[in-house]
Amino acid sequence: MTSNRIYPNQTIGIIGGGQLGKMLAQSALRMGYRVAILDPSEDAPAKSSCHEFICADFSDKDALLKLAEMSDVLTYEFENIDAELLTTLVDTYYVPQGAKTVLTLQNRDDEKRTISDSGARIVPYNNIKTKTDLLEFIGREDYPVIVKTATGGYDGKGQYLVEQESDMDDIPFGETELIVEKYLELYGEVSLTVSRNVDGQTVFFPLQENLHKNQILYRTIVPSRIKLFDEAKEQVAMILEKLHFVGSFTVEFFVDKNMTLYVNEIAPRPHNSAHYSIEGCNISQFDAHILAICNHPLPKVHLLEDSIMLNLLGKDLDRLENTLFDHSDWHVHLYGKTDRKPERKMGHVTILTEDIENTLDVLESTFFKKK
Ligand code: ADP
Ligand code: MG
Repeated sequence: MTSNRIYPNQTIGIIGGGQLGKMLAQSALRMGYRVAILDPSEDAPAKSSCHEFICADFSDKDALLKLAEMSDVLTYEFENIDAELLTTLVDTYYVPQGAKTVLTLQNRDDEKRTISDSGARIVPYNNIKTKTDLLEFIGREDYPVIVKTATGGYDGKGQYLVEQESDMDDIPFGETELIVEKYLELYGEVSLTVSRNVDGQTVFFPLQENLHKNQILYRTIVPSRIKLFDEAKEQVAMILEKLHFVGSFTVEFFVDKNMTLYVNEIAPRPHNSAHYSIEGCNISQFDAHILAICNHPLPKVHLLEDSIMLNLLGKDLDRLENTLFDHSDWHVHLYGKTDRKPERKMGHVTILTEDIENTLDVLESTFFKKK
């Protein structure tokens, strides 16, 4: 079947020109597509990797329609597109990912309910409006819990760890929709990246082991030393019955002390924990996304070599920028962001290795070294 296939020289429109948009665009360009990007920032990382760049806010309807007009297929790296606007785009233009899944995943309450309804495992949670609701949840589940804004959060933003009643003071009750969930004592975290084309062909990347610091992804090791690949695939299979996906997406999991997997959240777009796939796999998550939305066949994914990916935040770059290229085995990616902030993702490094533990030891004296 060749339904809705998009061919080279046709135009892929990408909503969002951050690092994900840039790496998507680079894949698309390599395959011979034309690329159009919309982003609110004049110096968006992807600006130099596209044929057409529209500088406009994500809520600018006319600008989004302009992007759609010049594109044969639309996709996004930015998942918080306004519901009404996205629905308009989906009704009139070709958006193979549709609106329903991304709109469900924009709201943590809808996301968790849908995942739970699918039969996949999540940590106990509730939506809350007041401090009384929160205290009632804690009465049932005990401390510690974590309160999260239902919408708009990323890299730990909008999250409040509550270990005692005095931790509740900063929570914006009444100002925004909130959920609370049990805060797990984690053994670790893993994620599973999946790509699915328009015809429904589905391929799995290897299980990724993630370490977060200050709720921001710090390091990914592949293959995961936590051997729960089959269990993770089973959880994802249940979710796939409930939610329609096209393109590359990633399911994040918690692993508790009993080695039980819990689905944390789903990113309906390329994900930081699969950046290693650019060098580490026979196909990257970005290549796979482009092939999937253009409805081409996807190859079975395999790891070429064990991989470690380290994020470069602004504060890491301050420390390492002049020595990054001293390490000939580091695949250095810098996104080209002009505004450097200590906790902002500025780039990443991927290292392929035959010996993960030894490489981690070596990294301890280079990358990890604190001043
Ligand atoms: P974001 O949308 O910011 O990625 P997440 O819900 O994935 O939000 O939280 C970011 C990180 O914070 C997680 O990867 C994990 O390290 C930590 N965290 C969040 N919720 C919990 C929890 N319930 N128990 C333990 N750790 C958590
Ligand atoms: Mg997360």
